[in-house]
Amino acid sequence: MKMNKEERKEKRNAYFCQKCRRAYITVDIDEGTTPMIIHCDACGSYAISMMYNVPGVFRFDFSGGLPTEMTPDFEFYKPGQAEYAGLLPSQQEHVDNGGLLMRKREI
Ligand SMILES: [Zn+2]
Repeated sequence: MKMNKEERKEKRNAYFCQKCRRAYITVDIDEGTTPMIIHCDACGSYAISMMYNVPGVFRFDFSGGLPTEMTPDFEFYKPGQAEYAGLLPSQQEHVDNGGLLMRKREI
């Protein structure tokens, strides 16, 4: 059964950089594969996937007393036709193989 965007639950993941200890929170908004490692913007090293085993501290912010859902840093998505046409051949191949692209989350 195919679900539409409203019904589908976003898949949350996190990436952790072992060098500078920064964590990146991500969500998959489409079906597809995501990388094991992403570039760490903070130190130039790499952040490693938590394989969707995301602890509650990367899901909720408890600083206000009650838990509130934290905003992800990035989202993984499937590009539309226009964006796909403008991608590099290597990126198109990645998408053709079921890979998602990453962009900054903007809400
Ligand atoms: Zn880092």
